[in-house]
Amino acid sequence: MFFTPTYIYSIYFDALVGFYNDSITFANYFNLIKTIIMIQITLPDGSIREFEGSVTVMDVAKDISEGFARNVISAKFNGTTVETTTLLTTNGNLVLFTWKDDEGKQAFWHSTSHIMAQVVKELYPDSKLTIGPSIDRGFYYDVDFGEKSISDKDFVTIEKRMIEVARGKHEYKMRAMTKQDALTYYKSINNEYKVELIENLEDGTITFCDHDTFTDLCRGGHIPNTGIVKAVKILSVAGAYWRGDENKKQLTRLYGISFPKQKELKEYLELLEEAKKRDHRKLGKELQLFTFSSKVGQGLPLWLPKGAALRERLETFLKKAQKKAGYEMVMTPHIGQKELYVTSGHYEKYGADSFQPISTPKEGEEFLLKPMNCPHHCEVYNNMPPFSYKDLPKRFAEFGTVYRYEQSGELHGLTRVRGFTQDDAHIFCTPDQLDTEFKNVIDLVLYVFGSLGFEDFTAQVSLRDPENPDKYIGEDENWIKAEQAILSAVQDKGLDYVVETGEAAFYGPKLDFMVKDALGRKWQLGTIQVDYNLPERFDLSYKGSDNQLHRPVMIHRAPFGSMERFIAVLLEHTGGNFPLWLMPEQAIILSISEKYEKYAQKVLSSLENHEIRALVDYRSETMGKKIREAEMKKIPYMLIIGEQEAKNGTVSVRKHGGEDLGSISIEDFAKLINTEVKSTLKEFIV
Ligand SMILES: [Zn+2]
Ligand SMILES: [Zn+2]
Repeated sequence: MFFTPTYIYSIYFDALVGFYNDSITFANYFNLIKTIIMIQITLPDGSIREFEGSVTVMDVAKDISEGFARNVISAKFNGTTVETTTLLTTNGNLVLFTWKDDEGKQAFWHSTSHIMAQVVKELYPDSKLTIGPSIDRGFYYDVDFGEKSISDKDFVTIEKRMIEVARGKHEYKMRAMTKQDALTYYKSINNEYKVELIENLEDGTITFCDHDTFTDLCRGGHIPNTGIVKAVKILSVAGAYWRGDENKKQLTRLYGISFPKQKELKEYLELLEEAKKRDHRKLGKELQLFTFSSKVGQGLPLWLPKGAALRERLETFLKKAQKKAGYEMVMTPHIGQKELYVTSGHYEKYGADSFQPISTPKEGEEFLLKPMNCPHHCEVYNNMPPFSYKDLPKRFAEFGTVYRYEQSGELHGLTRVRGFTQDDAHIFCTPDQLDTEFKNVIDLVLYVFGSLGFEDFTAQVSLRDPENPDKYIGEDENWIKAEQAILSAVQDKGLDYVVETGEAAFYGPKLDFMVKDALGRKWQLGTIQVDYNLPERFDLSYKGSDNQLHRPVMIHRAPFGSMERFIAVLLEHTGGNFPLWLMPEQAIILSISEKYEKYAQKVLSSLENHEIRALVDYRSETMGKKIREAEMKKIPYMLIIGEQEAKNGTVSVRKHGGEDLGSISIEDFAKLINTEVKSTLKEFIV
């Protein structure tokens, strides 16, 4: 329970009266106060620790263990970020974070942004500070440098001074300030940005953070002291509009990152280098997979022949497995009447932020570019002869291209686009079939990931918030069934999963797959979602064994997510070295001289007969140059042919990366390729 101040006061008063009445002794009086205001701090494992009156966050950590406390850098109390110095005076739930936790990193990086701001102010006294949050990886600070400008040449000076400041082990101290005082302070130093920020804050909620000689308007969430920051790097500088508004002043955004160990910074910088090499936009261009044209429009990828062929291979692969799993392909148009999305509810929810309706010139009809395939698939269901329970489940699949408006500044390669193709399917089943259907979909997703070399992934189960049942549509009983179906499915399949309570969509619980790529970065790919809403809105039904009409349950699922995003992630994960079955070219024939052109031709047609994708480099270039170029194109196998090979009917095999497999017959090479393909691309077994 919570002790409210009045409650404490009244107990205190009773105790005091008791003391004066001499009915209890002085010592007893203090004992009474003590026992009455013990506070209980509940830790994430459910254990409860009691403290007298009040306790700082750090002292709770020390109470757990001194060793653990040394690593604690930030905390949350009752869901709110607090400082490690915060005095806790009520019962509540405390979560302590170290550098290993995301929340710890956020506090670490945000705290470093204060150090950077201090140094910027020292080196550029006329600059004006605005905001400096932590981000996914690191932090930034937006600064108005006035007449001055800053470039990467200045980074080292800033970094050096930051480390000097950090070594001072200055504590971060929060301090409350009245709105008037805060405004007076920033007006006196001519910082109109902070003045604007403060004007939008409520008096009584304004706090500053001090460390060393520096102070800054801040809500809080810091590490204990600057000394924990051992390594910093200013990563880049960019322009950013004040408050993200292009009509406002352009500021300079300094991006940085920091670590508790020099070694971690070094590793991070190496990772960044590797990530740059693997950037899917760069690889996509080098491997001639896709491009963008400003004439066609931003965020609308154009697939080049090799990219289109790659996509087709992925689609064929999934179609084949889906067919085995009982899916039926459907095809629906790229636009739909506005009314369709009014029925589905998408118009009300997203209409204002989407591509606006297209209207017909004469009849005044309104159409929308399709933002999702589900409404169309509901109408497919509705317009087929009525289904009975014996016909279900119906599984409609489509590689459906959808269009969603994204602000131009948000677009990024293939991962944030305005037009993309989902490997979509909707399963319509009875509530009793949900369990099996869900498990089958997981099998399919695991098959897809396995065939493409994604081994490191976690599943995220999103359930509804039991405190707010009104937020969700659908019957309680069905929700319980669906949530249990998902949980039992992930347990059954032995998946590494986390449960996020309250993260379900309003229309149903879901399961998302997060994959870690070769560089340890997390991506959200496949998704499986249960939906009670659309069957309702589209009035879908089937005849049950009782001869009555019932509502089917709908499952949305997309193992890839979207073709665009999936290929982007696959490119960055593999660095362009796709599994052999997917490679645009599996082998290249390199002839030592033009004399062996005829034999090269023979090797090529023989490989084609074995359904191996190969090409010949006939150019009269040096072998060294031909090999280098084949390496650049990431072609897995190079087949070098000269006099010996032509005479013996063999090829000399060199693998991408340099491994020499020696001279083997064409037949053996074909076997080698097919064995390797089969080792990753197994048959999907239902
Ligand atoms: Zn701060
Ligand atoms: Zn859907």
